[in-house]
This record gives sequence, C-alpha cells and structure tokens, in this order.
Amino acid sequence: MELEILGAHNCESVDTKLTSLFIDRTIAIDAGGLTSSLSFSAQQQIKAILITHHHFDHIRDLATFGMNTYMWGPTNVYSLGSVLDVISAHLLNEVLYPDFRNRPIPDRPSLKFCPLEPNREVLIEGYAVLPIPVNHNVPTIGYQVTSPDKKSLFYTGDTGRNSSSLWQAVSPGLLITEVTMPNRFEFVAQASGHLTPRLLKEELLDFKSIRGYLPPVVTVHMSPQLEDEIREEVAQVATELEAKITLGYEGMKIVI
Ligand SMILES: [Zn+2]
Ligand SMILES: [Zn+2]
Repeated sequence: MELEILGAHNCESVDTKLTSLFIDRTIAIDAGGLTSSLSFSAQQQIKAILITHHHFDHIRDLATFGMNTYMWGPTNVYSLGSVLDVISAHLLNEVLYPDFRNRPIPDRPSLKFCPLEPNREVLIEGYAVLPIPVNHNVPTIGYQVTSPDKKSLFYTGDTGRNSSSLWQAVSPGLLITEVTMPNRFEFVAQASGHLTPRLLKEELLDFKSIRGYLPPVVTVHMSPQLEDEIREEVAQVATELEAKITLGYEGMKIVI
C-alpha cells in the first residue's frame, strides 16, 4: 500500500494544500486539496473518495472534482449520510455550484453519494474500509483502510481527545492523525476539537496501553504559521514515547 499526502495543512497557500490523502492512486480520503494537487490524468484514476466530515477544508475540491469529472464520471463519494446531506444542501446545491449527483445527466452523473454506517466495515475497490466516529466539533468519522494484501492505516480526520475505546476498534500499521496547533493554544484546541502535541501524547499513550504497540505516526492539518513550534513539540513527544512521529508534507509518500 502506498500513501501519498496531497494536503497536510489547514490553511492554503502556494506551498501548503488543504488536507487530502491518496491511497495507491485509487482511493482518496478528504478532498481539501484533491484537484489542486493532481493532474487531470491522476484525478481520472480516483475510484472513490472518503470524506471524514463536512468542514470546508475537507470537502472544497469535491466541487472542482465534480466539474472535472463531467467527462469521465461517476466517482463514488462515501461518508456519513448526514455529512453528504450537508454537502448537498450547502455546496453542490444548484446555487453555489451544480448538483453533480444529477449532472451532467442523471443517468451518468459526475458523483454518486454513498452513505456509510458508523462502525460497519465495507469493501470499496477491494479495500476493507471501517468508518469509526471520532471526537470533533461536528459529526466526524476516521477511516481504517486495509488493502487486499492486509496492509492497513487509520486516519482520524480532524479530532480532539477520544475515549480510549477508539483504539479497541483499530490496529493499523500506520496512524495518520492531526496536530493543528502548538501546546500554548490547547484551550483553543479543546474548544474546537483538535489536537496539540501534548494531547497527541495522551492519545498515543491510550493507544499503546490498549494495543500494546505504537505504529509509525504521521501528522497532518498543521497550521502553517505555527508549524516550527508544532515540529519542536512533536519531536519532544516522540522522544518521550520512543515513537516514530513525522510531520506530513505535500508530496510525502509512504509505503506501508
Ligand atoms: Zn474540522
Ligand atoms: Zn479541518
């Protein structure tokens, strides 16, 4: 399984893209930086898009992708039904942009919306996909994705501290999670459902006590203006836990 990080940040610039992951050039997770990071031919390889939650920085490129796929759709888009409903009501609503579930023609739309049940594993393009609720300030699901050759990753999406039961449900070979801001903004992180390096440490301690190991960890969704501070604090956590924790970046590729 090869993971490519298309977007690793929560703010966009010429150097930073919004959160998006790409697995084996087949399944994308989150669509913050999907079209802005990929050529048309690479976009055409996307067979499915998994969405963690409806915040704009995770769905923005569904609109541009829907327009790009006019010629080669449909592509399946998976998430909680309530998340797909928000996207239909507020983004692809025939006011802000076309409803690509029915365009260009209802018989062959650009996008097909596929609601998922939380905690129920489904097979998508040959990959076992387990959607699991995480603690953010709107309904959000993380995804454990297991390839046909049994390699697995778990991506939390945006999340604050979770109950330790989360780690009873997953046992990935790679953990991708978020660290949005440094420790001095913990009060903001707590209020908005995000992690700081100190809160990440608590999550990883829970993971280790329940699963008995720690996989390599990659962080995304960093605030670019605060990234140097985050990097220093994450390195400290990695030393304290004797863990491998790496800040993700645009274009990063990891073989699992
Ligand atoms: Zn969010
Ligand atoms: Zn976000």
